[in-house]
Amino acid sequence: MTSALDNIRASLVGLKMPRALEALDHTMQQIERGDITAIEAIDTLLSEEFTNRETRRVTVALMTSKLLPAKTLESFDFSFQPSLDKSRIMALAQLDFVKRAETVHFLGPPGTGKSHLATALGVACVKAGKSVYRATLAELIEALLKAEREGRLVEKLRFYARAALLIVDEIGYLPISTGGANLFFQLVSVRYEKGAMILTSNRGFAEWGEVFGDPVVATALLDRLLHHAIVVQIEGASYRLRHHTDLIPEHVRSNAPISPPPPPPPPKRRGRPTKQEANIKQTS
Ligand code: ADP
Ligand code: MG
Repeated sequence: MTSALDNIRASLVGLKMPRALEALDHTMQQIERGDITAIEAIDTLLSEEFTNRETRRVTVALMTSKLLPAKTLESFDFSFQPSLDKSRIMALAQLDFVKRAETVHFLGPPGTGKSHLATALGVACVKAGKSVYRATLAELIEALLKAEREGRLVEKLRFYARAALLIVDEIGYLPISTGGANLFFQLVSVRYEKGAMILTSNRGFAEWGEVFGDPVVATALLDRLLHHAIVVQIEGASYRLRHHTDLIPEHVRSNAPISPPPPPPPPKRRGRPTKQEANIKQTS
């Protein structure tokens, strides 16, 4: 005759619950010693199995989503980036923007945490059981160009359209060919109002014509990507270079745009300032 314990073992094997099976003997001993009640034992076995499965699911999902190395909002030092409103980022982590299929833009100079924040939101999304895919713009376009050459473009566009959240990192670092820009436009059109996106860029929207090599495509892209959009502008120093500020030229440290030096001030006159000089003082 098989005992109830043997039955439980067989069921756990059949149900593919290895972690609960592993914990069974120890949990039984705890019951026998009177350390835990039967209900606590059930709770232990199920939660051990569930935690184990969740950890595995998240690990695999982070890999297939291309979110490794993973980042979290807990490991983001908001005090280093005072221009960033922490509560706004924490609100984004509630993931309502994913449900509403909105677009989040992280804009700012290199090293200010754009990719970190985008990845951290992606990780939160994976943990919440939603599908995510992350790529740099260059990777996306390369994959789309390859699929087009091989006659698999529709399939590839469908693949990118499927994720609940698509993260497009590093817009603006590399110039995009006309063919590439058109393919990216097709991708954005396929996802428009259907799925959420996070985009990161070191270039302002006014420069997108230059980035995509074509002002018409850039305008059409922005038309869709700025509709239902949340724009987070980060203005600060690079976290990567935080220990090397003395080695960085002033115009980079202060994130000032690289521009020719200002013209020298006009020679000082005695007496009351002219109307023009008074205006300059007021506005500066
Ligand atoms: P960006 O994408 O804006 O160029 P990253 O997000 O890649 O910058 O940040 C560069 C590196 O610095 C990453 O390793 C990131 O995890 C880290 N980092 C950036 N900002 C912060 C911050 N405020 N707190 C903690 N780590 C940060
Ligand atoms: Mg980045």
